[in-house]
Amino acid sequence: MSTQGPAFDADLFVIGGGSGGVRAARMAASRGARVVLAEAGGVAGLGGTCVNVGCIPKKLYSYAAHYAEAFEESHGFGWQGEPPRLDWARLKENRRNELQRLNGVYQKLLLGSGVEVLFGRARLLDAHTVQVDLEAGGDGTSRRITARHILVATGGRPEVPPFPGREHVLTSNEMFDLDPFPARLLVVGGGYIACEFASIFNGLGSKVTQLYRGPQVLRGFDDDVRAFVGVELVKKGIDLRLNAQVSAVERTAAGLRVTLQGGSTVMVDALLCATGRVPNVESLGLDAAGVAQGKDGAVLVDEQYRTSVPSIHAVGDVTARVQLTPVALGEAMVVVDRLFGPAAGKAPRSMDYELIPTAVFTHPSVGTVGMTEAQARKALGAIDVYRSDFKALKHTLSGSSERTLMKLIVDAATDRVVGLHMVGADAGEIVQGFAVAMKAGATKGDFDRTIGIHPTAAEEFVTLREPVTSGAWRQS
Ligand code: FAD
Ligand code: NDP
Repeated sequence: MSTQGPAFDADLFVIGGGSGGVRAARMAASRGARVVLAEAGGVAGLGGTCVNVGCIPKKLYSYAAHYAEAFEESHGFGWQGEPPRLDWARLKENRRNELQRLNGVYQKLLLGSGVEVLFGRARLLDAHTVQVDLEAGGDGTSRRITARHILVATGGRPEVPPFPGREHVLTSNEMFDLDPFPARLLVVGGGYIACEFASIFNGLGSKVTQLYRGPQVLRGFDDDVRAFVGVELVKKGIDLRLNAQVSAVERTAAGLRVTLQGGSTVMVDALLCATGRVPNVESLGLDAAGVAQGKDGAVLVDEQYRTSVPSIHAVGDVTARVQLTPVALGEAMVVVDRLFGPAAGKAPRSMDYELIPTAVFTHPSVGTVGMTEAQARKALGAIDVYRSDFKALKHTLSGSSERTLMKLIVDAATDRVVGLHMVGADAGEIVQGFAVAMKAGATKGDFDRTIGIHPTAAEEFVTLREPVTSGAWRQS
């Protein structure tokens, strides 16, 4: 670690106590750096989006929603009796308690590794100075701190498009604490958040309508996956309307009246707009420090996460690239290794954006890693596609009509598996392991030589024998 040059109050100032910021602060402190971190949301903000209004509460609610179908399906396995009723207030309270526990764990980890934590909004004054307006409950004052390096890890926030009645709209941030539980919910959007929340609230008991402006949900995913998910969402009871847009919303005595382009209306109790996220850069002083910004204010960084100001780095959602927690964590560790050296005996880490696995926690869920069929055709030309669409063993007795899709894309020239996609129960859990194999360069031959685990759904990935000749997936 360099200690030359002017005396700074800190070696690293981290703005934002979310996934990237906390990881960077802890790792840097563990290398002996003097680290200060500012979090605008107080203790309850520690952990950032993922812990407080993202991955964790979302997944907890997804588990809750799965019980509804589990109770129903249990009859096929001989279980008798009425299904229990959801106590929404209890679920919310249990979630709040768990998040509070996690906020405490994060605070302990930071303090335990020697990071000074300031609760308040931070802004850059120049390339080496940050001002933190300490939150109410402190003494209401602000502090100026100079730092050799500054890391911007302020994440993002939901963006709602402009239309009349926009003030009646909710974002994912508010969905976790809704009161009362919405009997009728309209979800706008076709991305991760829209599809996940449509599934969750449908499972919890809302009558869900989902509007997406395009021809099929989950743009960017493999086309067969998109078509298959669309069918499964509808089978679960979601009223999915494609090529549809909201034009206005008004509050009436009977609920929110949502008018769609074309003139039809939908009456609902709540409207979730899940139409994308933008970087958190307001009042951050990026201009004052001379940090260059791109679309929606995203902080521009090079491959080492340096901004246009050499002393200022940025990671995670504020850079508006891959918005996933493990990516923010990975980027943070690369920055720390670069600035303060790697952990003893370890090589400096690097971040590789190839083959990032991801899951969408719809019901059923999506797991994917590598290229879509369309991307592979474009990039590689000759490919083989293997696909299977089946009813999982559990559903032979459960009464559920849910099906599972598995798909492999293979580079015909090298036999390497370049894309692996699944829609079905526990897709994220299954795809994570296959992502390791693909990262290691696994070929279709390696898949074929691997013995399956029977009876599982996952074994299908190692028993796909005949390439597809029939074109796109179609519902049979
Ligand atoms: P954040 O975690 O957002 O942290 C930024 C922090 O900075 C916040 O705590 C904020 O209060 C603070 N801050 C902002 N401005 C200031 C300031 N001026 N001064 C001080 N502090 C400031 N990813 C997955 O990998 N898996 C999932 O299942 C998943 N589910 C998601 C579900 C939802 C509903 C959402 C919204 C996101 C989900 N994500 C998921 C994405 C994931 O949450 C983000 O990619 C991740 O949190 C980004 O981390 P970050 O460190 O960049 O920012
Ligand atoms: P996404 O970018 O995934 O989806 C936004 C959706 O809103 C798209 O369907 C988009 O349509 C639509 N949209 C955008 N603007 C408008 C508009 N003006 N009118 C109507 N529809 C519009 O964003 P999300 O908010 O769902 O999620 C943000 C990010 O958070 C994700 O990209 C992901 O990285 C991360 N995340 C990860 C999760 C996970 O790992 N499981 C879960 C949740 C979030 P179109 O496709 O036509 O542009």
